[in-house]
Amino acid sequence: MEAERKELMERREGDEMIRMTLCGGQVRVMMCETTAMVQRAADIHNATPVCTAAMGRLMTATSMLSVMMKGERESVTVNIKGGGPMGTLTAVGDHGDIKVCADDPQVELPLRADGKLDVGGAIGKDGFMTVIKDLGLREPYIGQIELVSGELGIDFANYYTVSEQSPSLVALGVLVSGDAVLKAGGLLIQPLPGCPDEVIDQIELRSPMFADLSREMTFAPKEELLEDWFRGMDLQVLDRTPLRYHCSCSRHRMEKALISLGRRELNTIIDEDTGAELGCHFCHSKYAFSTADLRELLEKATRE
Ligand SMILES: [Zn+2]
Repeated sequence: MEAERKELMERREGDEMIRMTLCGGQVRVMMCETTAMVQRAADIHNATPVCTAAMGRLMTATSMLSVMMKGERESVTVNIKGGGPMGTLTAVGDHGDIKVCADDPQVELPLRADGKLDVGGAIGKDGFMTVIKDLGLREPYIGQIELVSGELGIDFANYYTVSEQSPSLVALGVLVSGDAVLKAGGLLIQPLPGCPDEVIDQIELRSPMFADLSREMTFAPKEELLEDWFRGMDLQVLDRTPLRYHCSCSRHRMEKALISLGRRELNTIIDEDTGAELGCHFCHSKYAFSTADLRELLEKATRE
């Protein structure tokens, strides 16, 4: 088991986003592998298979939004509140660095009638998806749509169509076996304005080929799949971006969070004399502050 696990880990180095075009730039295509980052999320959150699949699909879709952000200081946060037993899911993408958390990542649900993990049941479809693009110095962009399925692929396609006026095909896949993520990835296809109907028809005709994306990815390398799917459509690779699970929390950021509680709240914690321990929701790092540390922070807050 240990050897098998190690072999899996070693094979999981290839998380990346490939950006491409079809038909002389009339269609934008993105394909990514996210196996390693989804495994990291499963391990950090001690997630059940259905929650691993839900968080994995969300991270995969968030990484697509994230690599489209151009500015160095830009990032994207996606919030899913569907009323299901997992509660709220949040993913943050900072270019190639993605992280995720959920209220309850230990939810267990029976398999669906077709034998698949019930991601839609875990997330729920009675609620909203909110996309917040932090544009650095400018006002953030906030787009919100009602969830249609909670399975996320359709929901993200709907988001692109409704909020960004960019009709899209989105396929998200996470293949889980026990606590191991065998394969995870996603595909986004966006015909650009003016794209001829024949090209769109071609894509629709081929769409059953990427319906079970993560399983397809276990059979052949990404490049081979892409060549196969888009044969005769002038596939051009624009660039490749490495992806990883990464949380940039730090003691300094936690200090800022404590200071933002305000003087009165800080004084209350100091009077209780039990110190404070802050945990990061995304990576489970713990930051301990003694009463003396808190006094120092209070002084700093008062000076500022
Ligand atoms: Zn963290």
